[in-house]
Amino acid sequence: MASKRKILISKDGSSFYVKDASKDFHTEFGYVKAEDLARKDGSKVITNTGREFAVFSSSFADDYKKIKRAPQIIPLKDVGAIVSETGLGKKSKVVDAGTGSGALAFFLANITKQVASYEIRQDFFEIAIKNKEFLGIKNLTLKNKDVTLGIDEKNIDLVTLDLPAPWEAVKHAANALKAGGFLVSYSPTIPQVMDFIAEIKKNNLAHMKTIEIIEREWDVDERKVRPKSQAIGHSGFLSFCRKIG
Ligand code: SAH
Repeated sequence: MASKRKILISKDGSSFYVKDASKDFHTEFGYVKAEDLARKDGSKVITNTGREFAVFSSSFADDYKKIKRAPQIIPLKDVGAIVSETGLGKKSKVVDAGTGSGALAFFLANITKQVASYEIRQDFFEIAIKNKEFLGIKNLTLKNKDVTLGIDEKNIDLVTLDLPAPWEAVKHAANALKAGGFLVSYSPTIPQVMDFIAEIKKNNLAHMKTIEIIEREWDVDERKVRPKSQAIGHSGFLSFCRKIG
């Protein structure tokens, strides 16, 4: 399935995602024939108007960008901080809520042993199921459940909460986590962080830190090397907590 998806990249950085490589692919720089799209990774292909591209099979990161988005998804910079701060790896077991389109859950499943993700809304749950199939992910269990009513899993290395009232799930997260396991909450506003941390204090969890990751992309074009002019909006605050005892 995934082998049919290809990426075209030209030397100047323009790129295209080819969802179905069994058909000719049209771009504003002309079209690439299906027989050329089928060539091995790294082959040079030329459009009918003479533009050169390299062709590759798409990677997880390429396919991930194409998932259907229902609610706001967590940006990559924040996924990166969760992964690195918690040291997740192939033995890790994770619980995530709410699933939304599944963006965070897919990234976590791509690098860990097992992920269970909870979503209260049926429509988002169904979108996440379709996205999971599109990405071919096997080690992710999607649950159409309210996480504030309980978490079924035990001995978990990480619980991620990306929902409007994360404090309502803290008690269940504490029960699901193993000692030393991480609870990470992602919230756009400070009142949410305050209520979340107040609840952490009532449970056997320690608040380690709350951070905001600011990413700034730069233009690098000859001597015009400077931050891009358009403003980049705020995403969210990440609060890292650990289960103690
Ligand atoms: N982390 C997701 C985005 C989540 S948006 C991503 O990266 O794509 C927040 C989601 O939490 C919404 O889909 C919302 O329906 C869900 N949600 C809100 N309250 C919930 C609850 N109590 N239990 C489970 N899901 C909940």
